[in-house]
Amino acid sequence: MTQADIFRKAFYPHVSKAEWSDWHWQLANRLTTAEQIARLFAPNNDEWQSLRQTNAFPTAITPYYASLLSESPLRKTMLPSLMEKNVSPGETDDPLGEEPCMVAPGLVHRYPDRVLFLATEYCSAYCRYCTRSRLVGRHALCHDGTPLKSRWEKALDYIRSHTEVRDVLVSGGDPLTMSDEALDYLLKALRQIKHVEMIRIGSKVPAVLPMRITPALMKTIKKYHPVFFSLHFTHPDEMTPETIRACERIADAGIPAGSQTVLLKGVNDDAETLKKLMHELLKARVRPYYLFQCDPIAGSMHFRVPVSKGIELINALRGYTSGYAVPTYAIDIPGGGGKIIINDQRCVGRDGDFLLLKNFENTIYRYPDPLPE
Ligand SMILES: *Cc1c(COP(=O)(O)O)cnc(C)c1O
Repeated sequence: MTQADIFRKAFYPHVSKAEWSDWHWQLANRLTTAEQIARLFAPNNDEWQSLRQTNAFPTAITPYYASLLSESPLRKTMLPSLMEKNVSPGETDDPLGEEPCMVAPGLVHRYPDRVLFLATEYCSAYCRYCTRSRLVGRHALCHDGTPLKSRWEKALDYIRSHTEVRDVLVSGGDPLTMSDEALDYLLKALRQIKHVEMIRIGSKVPAVLPMRITPALMKTIKKYHPVFFSLHFTHPDEMTPETIRACERIADAGIPAGSQTVLLKGVNDDAETLKKLMHELLKARVRPYYLFQCDPIAGSMHFRVPVSKGIELINALRGYTSGYAVPTYAIDIPGGGGKIIINDQRCVGRDGDFLLLKNFENTIYRYPDPLPE
């Protein structure tokens, strides 16, 4: 029996394994209120008070993900805290400055050859540190009641007429919470655009709703290869048998999957936890892609780790484990600067025709590199 099975038997004794394993059941039974959450965990005073307030950003947890939370540091990524009310200097509702780059509703074009397509505002579970909490869970992009497909049409038109766009990153919200039919429609429309070489889907579904990764979904997506997944993983506690199975299905469908992790204080900000997560991901054939500094979304100070600590954590991986296990540490810069890679300085100077380079053990080596005449 998995941890989720034990939890289901204790808290949902009348729910069969078949119902529990149906992603529609999981979405219909998300935990959103203080009372629903208090039935499953004992909220502490801070969590309880925050749950009782009307928070602008909704709380929602799938019963499956809730089964992992009570003893895990992941709990603070899902349960609200009164600390969210403290807005620190430099924090905003649009920390990445996406609004000025919105070239169509839900379409962000910041980099020369690729776009971010915010296909839906819905997620199965809401992360408290969400960088798009101004949009998700609020119907902000469809507030005028425009149906999804007609909103997409404006974004698709933009992509059709911009031949430089060779990579479309479909995100949101979580696109894998949409129906197979809606995804099929969107992927087909993107595939019909000749200059779109690759499609990526950003999702946290394998971690929070792994039963969504059905054979039928994989079959739908496979038709539109090359499709890549950018998945969101946070902590090794997420690597349950259910999630590993979902990742294996993704790999078996020929979908290369990368993982993006947000560095979060008290959740994954130690070298052992990060290393374990990266190793577990590789075992499930998911390649660590980015480690992100937590964006300065309003009220997120309690999640942020100093950048110096982030560099220390990356240094504890590089050289000490497989290169495949080392994600790229990046900060997505406020005000629309985009992603900037943060590296420790490895090139420490020059001695005549030799460069001085520092290895992972901090030993300096000489490398012949004569300057051009
Ligand atoms: C992160 C991001 C991308 C993709 O960046 P990669 O480094 O190629 O993964 C594209 N557009 C926007 C707006 C982004 O924030």
